[in-house]
Amino acid sequence: MCEKSEAAILKEKLFISRKNPLINEAQSTIDEAFEFSKGYKEFLDKAKTEREAVNVALALAEENGFVPFENGKEYKAGDKVYFNNRGKAVAFAVIGKEKAEKGVNITAAHIDSPRLDLKPNPLYEEMDLALFKTHYYGGIKKYQWTAVPMALHGVFVKKNGSVINVSIGEKDDEPKFMVNDLLPHLAQEQSKRTLSDGIRGEELNVLVGSLPFKDDKESNLVKLNILNILFEKYGVTEHDFLSAELCCVPASKAFDIGFDRSMIGAYGQDDKVCAYPALMAVFDILVPSKTAIAVLADKEEIGSDGNTGLNSDFLKYVISDIAKMQGCDETIAIRNSRCLSADVNAATDPTFPEVMEKNNASYINRGVCVTKYTGARGKSSTSDANAEYVAEIRAMLDGAGIVWQTGELGKVDAGGGGTVAMYIANLGIEVLDLGVPVLSMHAPVEVTSKFDVYMCYKAMYEFCK
Ligand code: MN
Ligand code: MN
Repeated sequence: MCEKSEAAILKEKLFISRKNPLINEAQSTIDEAFEFSKGYKEFLDKAKTEREAVNVALALAEENGFVPFENGKEYKAGDKVYFNNRGKAVAFAVIGKEKAEKGVNITAAHIDSPRLDLKPNPLYEEMDLALFKTHYYGGIKKYQWTAVPMALHGVFVKKNGSVINVSIGEKDDEPKFMVNDLLPHLAQEQSKRTLSDGIRGEELNVLVGSLPFKDDKESNLVKLNILNILFEKYGVTEHDFLSAELCCVPASKAFDIGFDRSMIGAYGQDDKVCAYPALMAVFDILVPSKTAIAVLADKEEIGSDGNTGLNSDFLKYVISDIAKMQGCDETIAIRNSRCLSADVNAATDPTFPEVMEKNNASYINRGVCVTKYTGARGKSSTSDANAEYVAEIRAMLDGAGIVWQTGELGKVDAGGGGTVAMYIANLGIEVLDLGVPVLSMHAPVEVTSKFDVYMCYKAMYEFCK
């Protein structure tokens, strides 16, 4: 055995290790991560939209003893409550031993994902085919959304207020839908377009039928036939699309990737890959010293605006309601609170390393990723976390033996993006971004590592407990 050189010893003491952390990771942790991913994949399959994610989360929460928060009722340490925001966002809280005035611990993830929303008047017939017009939701590379099987999810709300849930295309025996692309043989002109213009917004038309209603006098008989099917199945007419929220999402189920099954491929992992660990963490804590809140938000992908997004006062009032219930000052409670803004980061792709700065990028299997700031063009539109708070979270992660890394969202001026962190920071709460690195973010199938997902859960549990 040769002794370590002085330089090797010093390096160990002074450098951040760049070694693959999985080389020395206990097999038992990897096994736990694989086990954890099973529940996560089930969640992904059932929760493709924010409404479905809220429904699945509420069902799991009720099994875990959560009840709807009622103003005027008293809750004691260890009690579990939830705040349902219109079925599209939800906050789960476990009441702590200390009063809310001492601050609460918040994990915030989003449950909306990029997709193709139907326009208010979606259905039309052209050249004997029936199609839906769509308006894409969130930042997508539009060409990726053609020629992949799609499912239709969402709700019709009738004038009398009744809600009709729709989900077609997920089960094996159900029909699916598709956006068509031009064949390469005739794409000579299309191929000259830039990649971002390769498929245009108004070309994201979804094929939904081709059989005409049996009648030889009228026009629009294919459209009529589709509306007739929808009327028979759901009791809706063309008017009911006006008060509907329907979208097309990839019809695929979550699957393992790789011979070693180490990764997960699925639609909507941004940001259910943080929402699910946040949910599991808040389910698993017993009686926390500080009240723990997991908020699953809507609308992040379009800027967090709207009353179900975190640029609203939803979270503020959740903390207020808990503070008021305990008879303490809500402003002090908010000011003393801290948050992990749990959202994905871009994992470095060996095929496209040029967009990353390798010393400040995140990598698959290097654990949960801490991001001090996001934004674009010189840290614009971000909450740049305070060093003091970053130090606190560093100490927590290292103290609990959680594998973590740090990463920026790409090279300076390569592009950029944001999270809900800045909206929570605007309330005066300490916030740091923490989440799972993702490959192919915002594509119909996104890729994560089971190990990183599990480390995200461990970080959130540690933060809330
Ligand atoms: Mn996200
Ligand atoms: Mn996103």
